[in-house]
Amino acid sequence: MTGTYDLSGKRVYVAGHRGMVGSAIVRRLAQEDCEVLTAGREVDLREQALVRDWFASERPDAVFMAAARVGGILANDSYPAQFLYDNLMIEANVIEAARQAGVGKLLMLGSSCIYPREAAQPITESALLTGPLEQTNKWYAVAKIAGVMLCDAYRAEYGCDFISAMPTNLYGPGDNFDLVTSHVLPALIRKAHEAKFGGAQTMTVWGSGLPRREFLHVDDLADACVFLMRHHSAAGPINVGCGKDLSIAELAQLVCATVGFEGTLDFDRGRPDGTMRKVLDVSRLTALGWQPRIGLQDGIARVYQDFLVSGARHVRFDRPA
Ligand code: GDP
Repeated sequence: MTGTYDLSGKRVYVAGHRGMVGSAIVRRLAQEDCEVLTAGREVDLREQALVRDWFASERPDAVFMAAARVGGILANDSYPAQFLYDNLMIEANVIEAARQAGVGKLLMLGSSCIYPREAAQPITESALLTGPLEQTNKWYAVAKIAGVMLCDAYRAEYGCDFISAMPTNLYGPGDNFDLVTSHVLPALIRKAHEAKFGGAQTMTVWGSGLPRREFLHVDDLADACVFLMRHHSAAGPINVGCGKDLSIAELAQLVCATVGFEGTLDFDRGRPDGTMRKVLDVSRLTALGWQPRIGLQDGIARVYQDFLVSGARHVRFDRPA
């Protein structure tokens, strides 16, 4: 089922505008004839009254929900309560406040980790809740599954046009380059850069290098979000990705070639591999008429340029308190 929603002249709230995804959506919305709304740090989205009051006074017409507690394989495993509680509270508060304020369209962003660990590859949307989750990110996954269900429940009970999109592993400018809490791609960029300029012979890659992952540039995701806001209206998640994956070892080689690190890779098998394969079936999105534009090699080169320009800002530590 598809519908059309016109963003022209609308007041559009981007929740999580300081993050990698939210800031990309704000950049993408600059091309649209709409007014972009963001909330200051004082509006803690985990606090129901603050969120309700903000919606009541700002009255957005549409909402992109890109606010979330996110992190890589180690962060997820280390801070289970914060990954579950923060994400549940953010979703419940924003979705209920959006309903109360009469928001006409809302898009919630989840993640491909909502699907079962042993899901058939490439993963279709229908795999949701058909098997056990991957252990290393189950807290985040459960919260995001609840977010999908909230959108569906509000559609069923109140007729709200709330949709949910599940992106594959994302990367791009403004990523988290902290080696403890980051995802693999920014971690490898930073490690390769530091190994090259530190004169190291080897660079450590977590796990066996065998797991396979799919990567999407966040500017492509932002474009897909605007596309879905316009053209998609249905219950259940819709996958967003490029449909192509590669092994972590291949990714590390690609990153080293881009950065110019010529040493060897040292695979630390004491670190978790996580899911062995996670590639999305994106045929529903493709059938609607959307395709990504930024190839992985080009995307990594762009992110490395961004890292070189604002490296000091990125080399930060933003672990959950
Ligand atoms: P995941 O997709 O939820 O498993 O999250 P990540 O992006 O954190 O990890 C993806 C894969 O990359 C896992 O198999 C990790 O073990 C592997 N990996 C290799 N080196 C690193 C690293 O330096 N940081 C992270 N976060 N993952 C790494």
